[in-house]
Formats: sequence, structure tokens, C-alpha cells
Amino acid sequence: MSDKVHLGHRARKRFGQNFLNDPYIIDGIVSAINPQPGENLVEIGPGLGALTEPVAREVDRLSVVELDRDLAERLRHHPDLADKLTIYEGDAMKFDFTQLSSEENPLRIFGNLPYNVSTPLMFHLFSFAGKVKDMHFMLQKEVVNRLAAGPNSKAYGRLTVMAQYYCKVVPVLEVPPTAFKPAPKVDSAVVRLIPHKELPHPTTSLKWLERVCREGFNQRRKTVRNCFKSLIDAETMESLGIDPSARPESLSLAQFVALANWMDANHQ
Ligand code: SAM
Repeated sequence: MSDKVHLGHRARKRFGQNFLNDPYIIDGIVSAINPQPGENLVEIGPGLGALTEPVAREVDRLSVVELDRDLAERLRHHPDLADKLTIYEGDAMKFDFTQLSSEENPLRIFGNLPYNVSTPLMFHLFSFAGKVKDMHFMLQKEVVNRLAAGPNSKAYGRLTVMAQYYCKVVPVLEVPPTAFKPAPKVDSAVVRLIPHKELPHPTTSLKWLERVCREGFNQRRKTVRNCFKSLIDAETMESLGIDPSARPESLSLAQFVALANWMDANHQ
């Protein structure tokens, strides 16, 4: 049988379908999530249920968001799961997660994410960070490295700064391609993202924070003075504690936020 057919379903590349198929890894992920009865768990991309089944065993109810109509239909008829699941058929990137959250019961989101859309999906999820207790995601290992990176490294970039703006990032587990069917071409890793209860470096303008990150990381080889010369002069930069001759990739989250907040106060 083709490597692409798993439990009678032909994996769809366009939906980033690589199904977990290794009980040891599945156990490791479920232990990391540590689901408890009464908690508000939400899975993105349940697929054929590799994580859904063991998590559902531990909780009273589980919400899932699945884009593939055939897979959502299979879950609706799953003999052990149908009663416990609330199935949302649709695109998680457009899903309003606030509808599932409550003050008393913040969201615990998890999933083996479709790698082709994992970065925009995470940006979408960050906008709900205030409603979320934690998130556990399987991602390309390279993406986990980017989430967890520090300044002055190749992995440090816009995704790092925005993720660490909202969340504490904890890499949990590395996963080889052989744990999936079909096997992806890349190594994978599981990461835990814990939204800060209070943002350590709040910005007055997310729009400006996103813009300084984008412009900074798009011009990594330039000095910060040259990157932002139409927006801020070198002296003002120094007064914010930023060396104008530094490269953007050496700026800390606090320094990106200081730049963004100055821009917000001084530009339209
Ligand atoms: N959780 C399963 C597992 O671990 O075996 C499947 C993981 S597979 C990598 C990704 C899953 O996300 C697939 O079920 C796929 O159909 C679903 N998916 C892809 N894009 C999606 C999107 N935009 N919104 C919701 N689900 C999506």
C-alpha cells in the first residue's frame, strides 16, 4: 500500500497532512500537554485522531478545528470520540478562538500543525494570547529554533520577536521524520508556548512593532541607523539605549519595543 495512505485515508499535501504514527512520541506529546478533566482543550488539525484520542480520554470535552471535510466527517462518526468532540470544520487561520474561551477556563490549544501554514497560523493565534493558558505545537524543528532563538543568531527574526513578545517559549521534544506517515522531509520538534500573564515589554502600537521588526529583519546586513534613517535619528536612538551602528538582529525584544513606541509617539 502507498506510504501516503494511512488508516484508509490518502494524505493531502495541500493540507500539510503528515500523520503521527509513533506511540512513544504520541505519549511524549500527551504527557507534555498533561490534559486534566474540566480543562478547555482545543486541537488544531486533529486529522485521523492520533493526539485527539489520548487527549479526549483525559477530559470531558474537546473542541477541534479541521479544514479537511473528509477528516471532519470521519471524526463525526468516530465510535469513541463522537460524544466528546465539538467539531469545527474550517480554516483555523480564520477561526475566532474567543468563542471557545471564558474567563474561568482559558484555552489550552495544541496540534501537530500543517507545516505549510504554521507561521501565519501562529501569528493568528498570538492575537488570542490573552485568552490562552498555553499552546503545544508540533512544528518543523527549524521553526521551533526560530521561536526560541536569542539575538545575534541566524534563527532570530520577526517570528522570534513576536512570539517572545506574547509568550514564554519552551522547546519540549525533538521528533524524527520516521514518527509520521507519510514521513516529512524535515526534522520536527514540539514546543510549549505560555502566554505572559503581563506582557514584559508592552508596546503602544502593535502595528509599529510589526513594522520595525519587518523592516529590521528584511535588512539584516545594514546598521540600525541606516535601516530606520527616514524615521529616527542616531542621537534619539542612543537616547533609547540603542547603538546606531548595531545590526537589527542584535536588538533585544525590549529594544524593538522601545523603537516601536518612539515611532508611535512621533509618527502617524
Ligand atoms: N493531528 C494529526 C496527527 O498528528 O496525526 C494530523 C496532523 S497533520 C500534520 C495537520 C492536520 O491539520 C491535518 O489533519 C490537516 O487536514 C489539518 N489542517 C491543515 N490546514 C488546516 C487549517 N488551515 N485549519 C485547520 N486544520 C488544518
